Amino acid sequence: MNADFEFAITGEHNGDEGRIVEGAKKIVTQAGSIFGGFPFQRYTFLLTFSPKASGGLEHKNSTSLLSDPFRFSKTSGYEGIFGLISHEFFHAWNVKRLHDPALGPFDYRGENYTRLLWFHEGLTDYVDNLIAMKAGVIPWTTVAREWAKRWTDFAERPGRLEQSLEEASFDAWIRFYKPSEFTPNSTVDYYEAGALVGLMMDAQLRIGSHGAKGVEDLFALLWQRHGEKGLTDADIRKAYQDLSGLDPEPFWDAHIRHCGPLDPSPIEAAFGLKFEAKAPWETLPPEDLKDATVARFARSFVGLEFGTSPDVPTIENVIPGSPAFEAGLSYGQEILAVNGWRTALGTEVQQRVADIPAGQEIAFTVVDRGRVKTVAVPVIENPRRSYQILPNVKATEAQKALFSAWTGQPFPKQSPIASGSSSVKP
Ligand SMILES: [Zn+2]
Repeated sequence: MNADFEFAITGEHNGDEGRIVEGAKKIVTQAGSIFGGFPFQRYTFLLTFSPKASGGLEHKNSTSLLSDPFRFSKTSGYEGIFGLISHEFFHAWNVKRLHDPALGPFDYRGENYTRLLWFHEGLTDYVDNLIAMKAGVIPWTTVAREWAKRWTDFAERPGRLEQSLEEASFDAWIRFYKPSEFTPNSTVDYYEAGALVGLMMDAQLRIGSHGAKGVEDLFALLWQRHGEKGLTDADIRKAYQDLSGLDPEPFWDAHIRHCGPLDPSPIEAAFGLKFEAKAPWETLPPEDLKDATVARFARSFVGLEFGTSPDVPTIENVIPGSPAFEAGLSYGQEILAVNGWRTALGTEVQQRVADIPAGQEIAFTVVDRGRVKTVAVPVIENPRRSYQILPNVKATEAQKALFSAWTGQPFPKQSPIASGSSSVKP
């Protein structure tokens, strides 16, 4: 495994450059070991610090990484950088070399369609965590928390019933980078959902091969078979079948060609874990959980969302099929008052909804394209669940051994490891 690596850092920051470069070395070694070497002589990391900057761009023999300079007062700052390095570096194989021919060389005169972004981006988003865990630069607890949050977000995303991963890949040109008010209700994110499919696929491969093979072996086999010659969906299915002995069609039908519910059971069975679903009132701090009057407030739900910065009482989304949806509330309407009380912020609306117990009605005074009206909406018990990924106390020695082979880390001792979103949305 011989290649020269350079690491160029631009801009001031509050981090330890030696620690960043040391972590990158471990990541590079771990990624190279999947493929038995590097497909280049020289590779350059270009890390630029700039306030509020984030993200990265992969190239064949280099990557451009962007980061906020002031993130290193917390361990999560380093973990964030290592996750990004791992992701972009894995792209040196997945997508820059091993790829759908539609993705290079590009025809820059038009759109370049592919149905494989779930594989090129989603599985890279999955494998970047495996590499970082095995390299010892990100702990299992961090990864479990991230996956649990994704699992929660996906389970709550109405678009999962409307768009498959293949469609999300194909429509990336016209939809992914042009989000609209319909995005959460009509689309899935091929990064987020693709990474979860990678996790499920890994578990299936290990179950089918009795623990011998996983997603990294899938990439190694595809690289060996196809290199830079071009990759199709059929090639991926064939490699999956050859490694696991399983018919790929049921998995592809359930998770790639269609968007069915996620299934944690193979992951639980392979690695001795359990996915625990918690209702919003079950994730309250212990003292609130004990207080029945306080816990009641987390039960109320009407289906309104105000986004991540709810500083105005304007509806950002309404969950299809929810009471608010059935009552005709929709995106862009401003809520002036709840049960006659003026609301100036989205958070105030959420608080007023929590005041009303499930089973009762609530009156929203809204502005709908200039017209003020009052709408009665029944409050129901919050149907949302957030997930935690926990070690199963009954895990067998074989499951624990497979967990360690999978993550490069010891089987976790204690719960709780991870929680999904704990915010309560009315
Ligand atoms: Zn990527």
